[in-house]
Amino acid sequence: VTGARGQRRVQLEDVFIAVKSTRHNHRNRLALLLDTWISKTKEHTYIFTDITDKEISSRGFNIIVTSCSPEHTREALSCKMAAEYDHFMASNKKWLCHVDDDNYLNPGALLSLLSEFSLDRDVYVGKPSLNQPIEAQELLPSNKTRDVQFWFATGGAGFCLNRKLAEKMAPWASGSRLLHTSAVIRLPDDCVIGFIVEKRVGVSMIHSQLFHSHLENLLLLTPAQILTQVTLSYGLLENKMNSVWLMGGFSTEDDPSRFKTLHCFLYPLTSWCPPP
Ligand code: UDP
Ligand code: MN
Repeated sequence: VTGARGQRRVQLEDVFIAVKSTRHNHRNRLALLLDTWISKTKEHTYIFTDITDKEISSRGFNIIVTSCSPEHTREALSCKMAAEYDHFMASNKKWLCHVDDDNYLNPGALLSLLSEFSLDRDVYVGKPSLNQPIEAQELLPSNKTRDVQFWFATGGAGFCLNRKLAEKMAPWASGSRLLHTSAVIRLPDDCVIGFIVEKRVGVSMIHSQLFHSHLENLLLLTPAQILTQVTLSYGLLENKMNSVWLMGGFSTEDDPSRFKTLHCFLYPLTSWCPPP
């Protein structure tokens, strides 16, 4: 099967899907993902968390317990991102895609998107977090600072990197270096990836509107669009529940994220989906 450029279409086994989670999210958030999209990508999906979970690993899911602190600090989150990067580099996969544990990843839409990119290109693709580059101060060795501007992909919407680019990022991203780079820019993990790609390697981010976090109004997506997006999310926006609007077999009480409803549209033969 060939893609748009006559290249081989990207297959699921080419992708290292990294899901960032944490101990408090296993029973609520993660369980929903395991029953929905991760059930379709199981072998190629790696859950980065901070505690072992026999219940989940005994079901055959790949759990990677990082030695990062289970806190929501810049250091702890950069530590988890570094683990995702290092495990991807140690794998033989061609793509690293990162998502949070409140994302729905549509595998078919992901593979279609990745198949569009020419193999000789450096790819960092995701949803720009802001509508302009972030302005930050890079801490120089002299203790002076320098103003820098760069685009970055919101971690909460998911993003992908190809191996060609990931290899060039190694001097700033591998092992303890990502944590060091995060100290240089003093911004969260997703900004650090943007900084490394744009300001260190010198490659521009590819902007895509197919990735979504709960920081945008998800009600704006039409049902037809929802089925073709690479990622979706749910959560709080200005203290209100923000999720996509999709009618189907589950009430909003039974499926507040709408992920079950979406999954049943994409995979109607799933055992727990209501009969069509
Ligand atoms: N997370 C984590 N450690 C923490 C808190 C959160 O690894 O102490 C992860 C969480 O599992 C999720 C991501 O960080 O994948 C973002 O967390 P959340 O959605 O709670 O916050 P947001 O930044 O979206 O408001
Ligand atoms: Mn979130």
